[in-house]
Amino acid sequence: MKALFLDRDGVVNIDHGYVYKIENFKFIDGIFEFIDMFIQKNYKIFIVTNQSGIGRRYYTLKDFNTLTDYMLDEFKKKDIKIDEVYFCPHSPEESCKCRKPSIGMVQKALKKYDIDLQNSFMVGDKSSDIDLAINANIKNSIFIGDSINKSASLNFTNIKEAIGYLKMEDMIKDEFMAHQKALSDTINEIMPNIAKASKLVVDTLKNGNKILICGNGGSAGDAQHISAELTGRYKTTRKALPAIALTTDTSALTAIANDFGYDFVFSRQVEALANSGDLLLAISTSGNSKNVNLAVKSAKDLGCTTIGLSGRGGGEMRGICDENIIIPSNNTPRVQEMHILVGHIICQAVDNAYN
Ligand SMILES: [Mg+2]
Ligand SMILES: [Zn+2]
Repeated sequence: MKALFLDRDGVVNIDHGYVYKIENFKFIDGIFEFIDMFIQKNYKIFIVTNQSGIGRRYYTLKDFNTLTDYMLDEFKKKDIKIDEVYFCPHSPEESCKCRKPSIGMVQKALKKYDIDLQNSFMVGDKSSDIDLAINANIKNSIFIGDSINKSASLNFTNIKEAIGYLKMEDMIKDEFMAHQKALSDTINEIMPNIAKASKLVVDTLKNGNKILICGNGGSAGDAQHISAELTGRYKTTRKALPAIALTTDTSALTAIANDFGYDFVFSRQVEALANSGDLLLAISTSGNSKNVNLAVKSAKDLGCTTIGLSGRGGGEMRGICDENIIIPSNNTPRVQEMHILVGHIICQAVDNAYN
């Protein structure tokens, strides 16, 4: 199991120095949410606290236990279960084996629980907390404070900042997972379409015809990216192949947009540049970009082959292209990530056909 080890004073409660009275025990802003985030991920929660105030006779073991009961009660009210509270009651002079950075308290936890230290965390506000993590092989350590602890894996000025960071990490993981799902859905559902489209591109080039590519925004970037792989090279050096992105001539784009309207920026260029037998690769995430679909129609009128690269169900483009590659996702960035992958796969098919 994964474990979250927490120092107490300065992490759970504000450290006024030797806190032992309930009225002086103030929970640190965000600590409930912070611990709850770990509980949601099935971490066991352990508090490991040096209480040398007992050894120094500033307060008694009974004082500490009373305060601990209060603390656990307050956690319970927030539905937070602290699995264990380990404490060292000794003063430094007693040279015990439990005072942090010695590892006695962690060893106690390891005796009772099967803890995966590689995936566990230690959170503290003193270097002895971080040194405990190092000495006990707790892989991840979080230092809370205004200074930087270079031995800690992460440093934050306060718990709230740590929460924000952990949420960002969760977001990153979610994005990767969404990408992975889009990828596996694409593999499972539309590989045959990618194969057919690749053959159309290869056949077009082998017949001595050319590839025109268009799209808006990120898809404009993809259009240029893919055409460059064909005119320049993809992975192997082979003959230069005729491909042109209709997104790069700013004079043509602005002139056509200005005189005819933005909807015609691609179709007008298709009419100028395309011949029968050429192939238009039309890219639109939604399949509903008007200027892209008008380009498809112009290409068809001229006797070109048309391939629609889309997502989100394929939109209007689905009905007008000879072949459709519709990424099975409604998540625009994930669709676009699959688009450039598909573009590269088509380039690989072309490379193979010329080697
Ligand atoms: Mg502390
Ligand atoms: Zn001790």
